[in-house]
Amino acid sequence: MSLEEKLIEYIRDNGPMTVADYMGACLYDPNDGYYATRPAIGGANADFLTAPEASQMFGELIGLWCAHEWEAIGKPAFNLIELGPGRGVLMQDALRATQKLEGFHDAASVTFVEMSPPLRDEQEARVPSADWAPRLEDAPPGPSIIVANEFFDCLPIRQFLRGEDGWHEKLVGLNEAEKLVFGLSAAIPAPESEDEAGMVREIAPGMESLIYEIERRLHEAPGRVLIIDYGYLRAEGADTLQALKAHKKVDPIETPGQTDLTAHVDFARIAQLAQAADLQVHGPVTQGDFLRALGIEMRADTLSSANPSHAERIARELNRLTHRDQMGVLFKVICLSSPNLPPPAGF
Ligand code: SAH
Repeated sequence: MSLEEKLIEYIRDNGPMTVADYMGACLYDPNDGYYATRPAIGGANADFLTAPEASQMFGELIGLWCAHEWEAIGKPAFNLIELGPGRGVLMQDALRATQKLEGFHDAASVTFVEMSPPLRDEQEARVPSADWAPRLEDAPPGPSIIVANEFFDCLPIRQFLRGEDGWHEKLVGLNEAEKLVFGLSAAIPAPESEDEAGMVREIAPGMESLIYEIERRLHEAPGRVLIIDYGYLRAEGADTLQALKAHKKVDPIETPGQTDLTAHVDFARIAQLAQAADLQVHGPVTQGDFLRALGIEMRADTLSSANPSHAERIARELNRLTHRDQMGVLFKVICLSSPNLPPPAGF
């Protein structure tokens, strides 16, 4: 039975499902979910290209950032945790760039939070020293530096559409031909709202519980979390659910489980939750500004001088990561820290 058939049967028996449940099934179903079975992040047949896959400079600078922040928390033995490490390229580049920094590798225990068996194999090949945890809750306690690149955008969202008569939850149901379609719940009465009819509001329940877990960790022991993702500073009321196949947007209701399904990350919500829990919040800033503040232009110059024949490629990579028409502005960076630490680099 395909995932589509399973979802149709489920809806026939139980009624329409939330977009979050649909997204969760498409990404995580153990037999047919996108990440469980066929993630294509890097290489020639990729569905999408992430920053560490685009350029080694990304992981290198994040590695140096981690080392700098390890100093800021007093150089303890610590957990270097990556959420959703994909093919393990970021951590491989980060560890290479920090090899010569006195004491850093000895102090760091790398833990990958990953649910995808095929990606775990790739991570193990690139970072054999790592341990794995299925969720952040399962990572060892103690001081931690946590990095998450393009992880939060996978966390399933519920969507609510503002109508004339209140809010309607967007649901996945069946049409007359018994095919999957998006539909709307009956109105949830909520007369007072500044939102105009047609606006869509999104909430990510899984993201909220992940932020609570981060808060718990950062209050228990010193640490920082660096979150990099595409998203918005203030939600504009748009529907941001999207499916990518071979770098092209496709309809999220077609071919469930066979495409990467993501939503824009609500950085304002992350900042609000973290501040309410007395964490320090730096950013969000744009990825372009963050990488420039960490010295990516200098790094590109050094690499080009060492390898003049690669100068053109390096310039292309720099452009891809930092230019406002590429990943430079759409992607944002936010840092959450334990109380009473100095400000992190890059903000
Ligand atoms: N950070 C990598 C990969 C991004 S793709 C990069 O920048 O290239 C998202 C990653 O998060 C994949 O490794 C995916 O398997 C993992 N992932 C997504 N949702 C997850 C969840 N709920 N729990 C654990 N891992 C998850």
